[in-house]
Amino acid sequence: MFEPGPDKLLAMEKILVIAEHDAGQLKAASLSAAGFAEQLATASDGSFEILVVGHAIDAIAAALRTCGAAAVLVADANALEHPLADRYAHVIADVARARGATMVVGASSTFSKDVLPRAAALLEAAMVSEVIGLRVENGEPEFRRVMFAGNVIATVRIDGPVRVATVRAAAFAAPAASAECPVEGVSVDEAALPAFLEFVDREAKAAGRPDATEARIVVSGGRALKNSGDFERLVGGLADALGGAVGSSRALVDAGITPNSLQVGQTGKIVAPDLYIALGISGAIQHMAGMKDTKVIVAVNKDAEAPIFEVSDYGLVADVYDAVPRLIERIRGETSN
Ligand code: FAD
Repeated sequence: MFEPGPDKLLAMEKILVIAEHDAGQLKAASLSAAGFAEQLATASDGSFEILVVGHAIDAIAAALRTCGAAAVLVADANALEHPLADRYAHVIADVARARGATMVVGASSTFSKDVLPRAAALLEAAMVSEVIGLRVENGEPEFRRVMFAGNVIATVRIDGPVRVATVRAAAFAAPAASAECPVEGVSVDEAALPAFLEFVDREAKAAGRPDATEARIVVSGGRALKNSGDFERLVGGLADALGGAVGSSRALVDAGITPNSLQVGQTGKIVAPDLYIALGISGAIQHMAGMKDTKVIVAVNKDAEAPIFEVSDYGLVADVYDAVPRLIERIRGETSN
């Protein structure tokens, strides 16, 4: 969210946006980071460029050409095939220096948590994470960021010739489509890349459902689900009927019913879909820290006093074992007609 102040930014910003990708697909959250960069650039009569780091990434770079950037920069090298944080941070810092960036921006994500603090250290830059708002005060940018599981929203300024930020996906819209910008290769000195980390193996989750951080619809289950079969039938079934992703409260992760990778919340994933359906989740503050930026929240809980109803747009007081099969049947009936 951008709150225009009475004045423009005094200093012209030159922003470098880090495009995140996985398995040949651009992560949608990167477009929000580009949206943030566009707003900061506009407020300062500046500009932004997008950097794609990796190997065989031409298609991703091409997809970013209409994002309003001055250029899409491609750092392509064999040694960058896997997102090893020390190498990526090194390349990002090098490119930021070479392009005279005043700010480096990425999406708030696991990838950014790993890579951008390292890049900030190499650049001797201050960093602000989880930015949800931007405003201009006395010609200076001020950043609104969430702290303490969303209980505090701080407004901060960061000083220095170059700063680093991560941006929450739900807070900034992707830039409107623009004319195509140029794509430029940047040279990577592979011999100079750090090699403290070595890629060994990767376990990807089974294809099929989208990732909760990328999906427009997320269906999550809580302690109401008694076992993994019920979780798959009810939570998975509703997610599949809606073409959505699945998520879980920590109660189910702790009980061994769902894998850690599904956990939504303060110590899990932060999601901000268009629709979040909470099935048998009480609405503990640590869970809500991970989903309360959702556009529309729907809760099904048999306890009418459950805190989740306080943040829900629609609530159904019902037993999930009774209501959810009927919901799935109804949705499947509607979509097959
Ligand atoms: P409960 O709180 O037990 O709620 C279950 C709900 O299901 C109840 O509201 C009940 O009314 C309802 N219910 C029961 N049966 C049915 C039924 N048949 N039909 C309909 N409704 C039913 N939690 C997270 O989720 N994510 C985190 O990232 C996270 N991080 C944490 C970090 C810290 C440091 C700490 C201390 C805790 C964290 N927690 C996290 C745990 C959190 O405090 C809660 O314990 C947890 O979210 C509760 O999960 P739940 O809502 O599934 O279970």
